[in-house]
Amino acid sequence: MTDKQAEQDVAFGFRRVGEGEKQSLVNDVFSKVAERYDQMNDLMSGGLHRLWKDDLVAMLNPPRGPMAWQHLDVAGGTGDVAFRILRAGGPNVRVCVTDISPEMVGEGRKRATADALTGRCTFSVGNAESLPFTDKGFDSYTIAFGIRNVTHIDRALAEAHRVLKPGGRFLCLEFSQVDVPLLDRIYDAYSFTVIPAVGKVVTGDGHPYRYLVESIRPFPKQEDFKTMITAAGFANATYRNLTGGVVAIHSGWRI
Ligand code: SAM
Repeated sequence: MTDKQAEQDVAFGFRRVGEGEKQSLVNDVFSKVAERYDQMNDLMSGGLHRLWKDDLVAMLNPPRGPMAWQHLDVAGGTGDVAFRILRAGGPNVRVCVTDISPEMVGEGRKRATADALTGRCTFSVGNAESLPFTDKGFDSYTIAFGIRNVTHIDRALAEAHRVLKPGGRFLCLEFSQVDVPLLDRIYDAYSFTVIPAVGKVVTGDGHPYRYLVESIRPFPKQEDFKTMITAAGFANATYRNLTGGVVAIHSGWRI
């Protein structure tokens, strides 16, 4: 059997692609949207992404006192979650942002410089499935709207477990399954018509935004993702739905 035949098909939005092909297609999406990413997030979610990220940071509850704390934000893109953690935490909280897209990381570095946060926040290019960090180095780990883009979710979870210290916290914010009747239909109509159309008007290309919407559907439902987190070795896996399940925050503890 050739390598190509042995390869599994995986979801890229609503399409099936070879597992070796998906990441480069995803990278192409984010290289195209990087420059307008933050602006489009506000437009697409009506600003809701800010509230969801604030909920994530409130659950993380970074120490406010002088305690040293090392946090890792994976698929951290333009640093939006990282900067919120730094603002919520004390002076010795440090955040490493890693993301596979050099273009998204480039935007993040610019924002960190503009916000005078470079001393407490570092950016690197890295893959969630093979993190460029040693074992047990971080007190906490977040991944926001990132994990549905990785090819092998189980490998990303195993890496999260590896880099966390015992007692460390894993938190994942991701689009999920809407559990409120009617809201699901309104949400679908909005997602598949308005978002790609707004993307086309603002950036000149609706295709990346179609992928961003389509990629939500094949992602495991809340209970299934919780099972995957437990299978990766995390204890006390739980989740909380926000906005009727439009997004969910999953939590687990490294023991
Ligand atoms: N976390 C940021 C936020 O919430 O604003 C960015 C989220 S953006 C929707 C998804 C990010 O995942 C992109 O920056 C993309 O480059 C990154 N990404 C996709 N696949 C990845 C992988 N395998 N490893 C690390 N980052 C990845």
